[in-house]
Amino acid sequence: MGWCGLRGLRYSGRDSSLQTGPTMSEQQKMEPPQEGDHVVVLTGAGISADSGLATFRGGGGLWEGHRVEDVATPEAWARDPATVWRFYQMRRAALLDVEPNAGHRALAELERALPERGACLTLISQNVDDLHQRAGSTVLSMHGQLQRLRCETCGYFQDGLQYLDTEAFLPCPKCEDPSLRPDIVWFGEMPYKLEAIENAMFEVTHFLACGTSGAVYPASGLLSTARSVGAQTFVNALDAPENLGSRDVFLQGSASSVLPRWVAEFLAS
Ligand SMILES: [Zn+2]
Repeated sequence: MGWCGLRGLRYSGRDSSLQTGPTMSEQQKMEPPQEGDHVVVLTGAGISADSGLATFRGGGGLWEGHRVEDVATPEAWARDPATVWRFYQMRRAALLDVEPNAGHRALAELERALPERGACLTLISQNVDDLHQRAGSTVLSMHGQLQRLRCETCGYFQDGLQYLDTEAFLPCPKCEDPSLRPDIVWFGEMPYKLEAIENAMFEVTHFLACGTSGAVYPASGLLSTARSVGAQTFVNALDAPENLGSRDVFLQGSASSVLPRWVAEFLAS
């Protein structure tokens, strides 16, 4: 189950902004999941880095030696599809060498456990790997997925990593299009699942940003939305982001070490 479909505005009524500032112990105290609660988690590259998957963006603004505009834009695909294809086929192949880690598995466990309490989880990910899915989660993949190819002509989708040739394009089996493209949201394209994300954010009671730079859209926007509707907010990262709010609970450390503990405490509370 992903977005759990409890439509309608239902603010949690937990906005305690009129109170004086909390002590650390009050702030850290987690409110347990209750009937009707909607936990929203946003994950980014940090959670997959713990699986040994190189983060897409390396040093010097280059992505594995390529400039962003040469491999991650519709213009690059039009101008030099061979380079774009080789880049993504190598990234697809790299998925075969990695496994979900304890962070991915903890979020899958949370998704399974919440319905017993009448609550639910929506997992949003900026990641294009399939590690959440392999851990058993349902994911709103807002930037697409490496394991999927699609046809720009007829809309056909092909899932799986069977075809990993870096030189030859894969023609569409449904139409005349000579080359399926990676189903990745490139710069200048509209992210996926925005309506489902918006619906979840209408209902969010607990929000966790994990392994994503909290200062950069969309993480920053979702975090501030969650605060504005009175959700309890958590940020998991190696270092505190600049926009960490005074009422956000900061969970410092790697996702694979922090999330199993956080999920266990949340479900035990
Ligand atoms: Zn087609």
